[in-house]
Amino acid sequence: MTTIADRLANAHLRIAQAAQISSRDSEEIKLLAVSKTKPISQILAAYHAGQRLFGENYVQEGELKIIELRPSCPDIEWHFIGPLQSNKTKIIAEHFDWMHTLSREKIAKRLNDQRPEALMPLKVCIQVNISAEQSKSGIPPQELMSLARVINALPRIELRGLMAIPTATDDIAIQRREFAQMKVLFDQLRNVYPSVDTLSMGMSNDLEIAIDAGTTMVRIGTAIFGSRN
Ligand SMILES: *Cc1c(COP(=O)(O)O)cnc(C)c1O
Repeated sequence: MTTIADRLANAHLRIAQAAQISSRDSEEIKLLAVSKTKPISQILAAYHAGQRLFGENYVQEGELKIIELRPSCPDIEWHFIGPLQSNKTKIIAEHFDWMHTLSREKIAKRLNDQRPEALMPLKVCIQVNISAEQSKSGIPPQELMSLARVINALPRIELRGLMAIPTATDDIAIQRREFAQMKVLFDQLRNVYPSVDTLSMGMSNDLEIAIDAGTTMVRIGTAIFGSRN
């Protein structure tokens, strides 16, 4: 039987191998362990194997896990990566360290207003709708720079980069094209805002393609914790 520690080690190996093939330094690529729907015991297993960055998709589930684990694991960095309704922003502002799915000015302002003074500014990535599917969340690429300007002027949130969930497809050409488009946008943003250092893209099935395209943070769930119901 493989353990979470084994699967985590294997994920690091995949990242290292992909980085080498793409002539990149694997130190530039962070691993976010996506623990949505998984119990505290599995988060602790990954934590004891050295993992420190965890991603959650559901507001209340994430809040409960953070409250339970903060005292014993104060060095976990918690990332919110799910869709967010404007009436739930306070929970994100009060508990999480990072928010990857920001795509509306109204939500940015609420997070800024609700971030407690005692905490560091909330680190945010703007989610870009790179697949141009009607149903997908994220901002259209042509609106990115105006949202970035708004966020940059808000003192309690810090613009750190971009996030994308590309088209669900096995077509590698489409995956490569969308990741490459994200890299272009990321470089444009980084040229304007020195705080920008994070390109959040790549999951269990496409992390090698994302690394080749220049990702700096892969979000891995299934490959570490197993499949979800
Ligand atoms: C669930 C999820 C992941 C992890 O996906 P896996 O295929 O399980 O690695 C990454 N990013 C987001 C936004 C997710 O919702």
